Amino acid sequence: MRSLAQRPCGRVSTARRGRVAITVRAQASSANGSKWPLDVVVVGAGIGGLVTASALLEAGARVRVYEARSLEQALDGPGGILVQANGEKVMRLLDSPWPTPSSSSSSFSASSLSDAVYAVGGPVMSGGFRSDRGDYLYYAAVDSTGLKDLRSNGLGISRRSLQNILHAALPAGTVTFGAPLKAFTAPPAGQAGAVKVEFEDGTVESCDILIGSDGVRSKVRAQVLREAAGEAAPEKLRYSGTVCWRGRVPMSRVGKGAEWLSQQVNGDTWAEYWGAGLRFGFFQVGSEVARDASAPGGLRQEGEPQIAWYAFANRPEDWSPEPGADEVARMAGMFKDFAAPVPQVIAALDPASVSYGRIYDQLPRPAPWAAGRVTLLGDAAHAMMPTLGQGGCMAIEDGLELANELMAAAGGLEGPQADAVAAAGLEAALRRYEASRAPRTGRVADQSYQVAELAMADKPVSVWLRNTIYRLTPKWAGDKQFEYLYTDYVPAWKEGVRQGRQFGAGAAAAPAQQKVGAA
Ligand SMILES: Cc1cc2nc3c(=O)[nH]c(=O)nc-3n(C[C@H](O)[C@H](O)[C@H](O)COP(=O)(O)OP(=O)(O)OC[C@H]3O[C@@H](n4cnc5c(N)ncnc54)[C@H](O)[C@@H]3O)c2cc1C
Repeated sequence: MRSLAQRPCGRVSTARRGRVAITVRAQASSANGSKWPLDVVVVGAGIGGLVTASALLEAGARVRVYEARSLEQALDGPGGILVQANGEKVMRLLDSPWPTPSSSSSSFSASSLSDAVYAVGGPVMSGGFRSDRGDYLYYAAVDSTGLKDLRSNGLGISRRSLQNILHAALPAGTVTFGAPLKAFTAPPAGQAGAVKVEFEDGTVESCDILIGSDGVRSKVRAQVLREAAGEAAPEKLRYSGTVCWRGRVPMSRVGKGAEWLSQQVNGDTWAEYWGAGLRFGFFQVGSEVARDASAPGGLRQEGEPQIAWYAFANRPEDWSPEPGADEVARMAGMFKDFAAPVPQVIAALDPASVSYGRIYDQLPRPAPWAAGRVTLLGDAAHAMMPTLGQGGCMAIEDGLELANELMAAAGGLEGPQADAVAAAGLEAALRRYEASRAPRTGRVADQSYQVAELAMADKPVSVWLRNTIYRLTPKWAGDKQFEYLYTDYVPAWKEGVRQGRQFGAGAAAAPAQQKVGAA
């Protein structure tokens, strides 16, 4: 693995017709050598790991991200994701110091993270939970978030596009792919020294801080729990009782095409249908970006507007499809009595594009989530049911808040590898981050679980009761139960992160120009 000293620094901004070009921040330079730039290892290059790397770089830290999967696998993903108003606000903060778009002649241009995701994705405007007959059980419009600005309302984007954009926003070489973490060794609480991170290939890296953003089956979390319990700790995953199929399909292929599809859902940009132990949903995700080493920014926009779709069914944990089963035919059978356009979406699917898996979450854990100079983030800390479309948004919020706490603690200290005071200060910052995040992520996880229970009700009487209660609930009361998601969280950089670059004088060094392409 390359050492940090060899890693390039850079800033680039370009815009071309039909091409995605986004500005890339510099890695903190260690040109000075004698100063201490906080040195962070992030394990896992999912949404959480990539956004956290962006936030930490913005704050002036050195960041290395290690991802178990190959670049091709990690920068892909099934279906799409809603980056809702709360996650979108963080993205805008992360790119606010970047230049604004300058191209007026191009049909597509982006010079920042949130511009890129908006240029590619589809805005979330209106939608709702519906019965399997198609009538609304709960309807949400732009103002249901309590935010009036359409752009603030969030967007739907393909996972592949989001992963590619988040990755392209980092300096080349920040992420090492094909590097599964094996274990770590951290100094005892309050003591100086390096955190050692060992990978499956035997490589060992040192850092000041280790962030486990390695998903629902986190190895970092497993080791933290094991060490806290002093014995082999069981994985605290909870099987939801549901299996999920998902993917993407061009809108033009569904039924009689995009206009027909839009008419079927009253012009909504998302729709979710609840039956008895069955649920089907979809939302607009716009077109795609793919990696292209010859394109400015290393990304190219391609294809026509798509929808991301998902289907849930109640199944026992030991359920698995027979080998070679046609999952499209299976879903067509399961959802044949659902209102249009559900059967038509399923009929349009390419079986090769369908992914499926069992859904697990964790019982929300109070803080602290970890110990010493190690912490957890995203699904590693708080895997939740996908019902509210908030797991990724929580990981995005985590990233900014973690960078904020570390930045605030790091200013003016010597490096923790040599200095116990600095080590204790950073540990306290990690525990503050965990304490600030646990109540909110726990509330969202609890609500996601409760809504999932309702959505997946399968007894006729409970389905009738659910639908009746939803239909009778006034819209304002429905909005109220979700409003906290968008209004309770006000992300902000803490004092000094922009100008101060408090992790070390080296971080303030003028960045060199560097064009970033595909890794
Ligand atoms: C069906 C479904 C729909 C969803 N819809 C939404 C939505 O609309 N909006 C939303 O906000 N959220 C949604 N979510 C939740 C969201 O996908 C997750 O919360 C989010 O992906 C978590 O991001 P993460 O970075 O924490 O973890 P992950 O995305 O799981 O990333 C973890 C990364 O760590 C890597 N890794 C694992 N082990 C190791 C190791 N030992 N060493 C190195 N790397 C490792 C993995 O390969 C992976 O790349 C949905 C989830 C599901 C299942």
